[in-house]
Amino acid sequence: MRDEINLRAYGKINLGLDVTGKRPDGYHEVRMVMQNVNLYDNIKIRTRRAPGIGVRTNLPFLPTGPDNLVCRAAKLLMDEFGIEEGISISLYKKIPVAAGMAGGSSDAAAVLVGMNRMFRLGLSKRMLMERGVKLGADVPYCIMRGTALAEGIGERLTPLPSMPECLLLLAKPPVSVSTRFVYGNLKADSLPFHPDIDGILEGLEKQDLAGIASCMGNVLETVTIPAHPGIGEIKARMKEEGALAALMSGSGPTVFGIFTEREAALRAEARIREDRLARQIYTVRPFYVDGRSRRLRNGCMESKGK
Ligand code: ATP
Repeated sequence: MRDEINLRAYGKINLGLDVTGKRPDGYHEVRMVMQNVNLYDNIKIRTRRAPGIGVRTNLPFLPTGPDNLVCRAAKLLMDEFGIEEGISISLYKKIPVAAGMAGGSSDAAAVLVGMNRMFRLGLSKRMLMERGVKLGADVPYCIMRGTALAEGIGERLTPLPSMPECLLLLAKPPVSVSTRFVYGNLKADSLPFHPDIDGILEGLEKQDLAGIASCMGNVLETVTIPAHPGIGEIKARMKEEGALAALMSGSGPTVFGIFTEREAALRAEARIREDRLARQIYTVRPFYVDGRSRRLRNGCMESKGK
């Protein structure tokens, strides 16, 4: 058993998000293209003398009790494997919260992976994914990571080729959006458009960034943008400054723009700030699990130190 482990939990964007129907149990059937980005939360798990789970975080508004997903993830494995050792989890969040970037799900995924290693539970990735779905539909993807087609309620995953190198400008307007509200207000039977998910898959296969950009779309914009028009304005600024495409991620409100030139991304960022459309703005790159680019090679899930 190890006393301590350091982890990175990466955020994601959706290159495409389609809803294809509603199940009798109320869940929506989706088709989504998921892509990790190089923006991550740092998580440290340590054993401690006191029993139970302690959580500390840099964001005062986040729960530190059983409602935090890191706590739920740890408890799930501690209960199943009868782990009596106490642990403390420190969570340093950089992924915007309630933003459509699966921050909480990714934290939960990292804790499952970390506990499995720390306590040598011997669970395979698949076994972790089966447990992860109990915590949230996006958790299996966050365990798998990389680029994937997610179907069913988001838990049926097919790995895809990574998106080509580019710059991703992320801007989160100062509003929080509940995923439940967005799906609850979606008119799944009368959507005005469907994104070309198959076109995105073809673009990934051919490594054609412009092709991917031209097929992107997110049906959840039909709910979130009317409720928060700033999202539409951010998309417009990004496109005016040269983004190949700009789209809301997940249920929002974070918008990402795909850029090939840093100057254009900087101009878009400046305008978004000037117009006070967002304060949380990041320029990142796609995160490649295989450590494709040299600068990102250290970006494995278990990080060395902080
Ligand atoms: P998704 O893209 O999966 O819909 P999201 O970005 O919309 O996720 P999260 O940031 O995962 O949303 O969090 C949504 C809610 O979950 C927040 O209101 C927060 O209070 C709660 N929460 C619990 N644990 C965490 C965590 N570890 N990180 C962030 N939020 C958490």
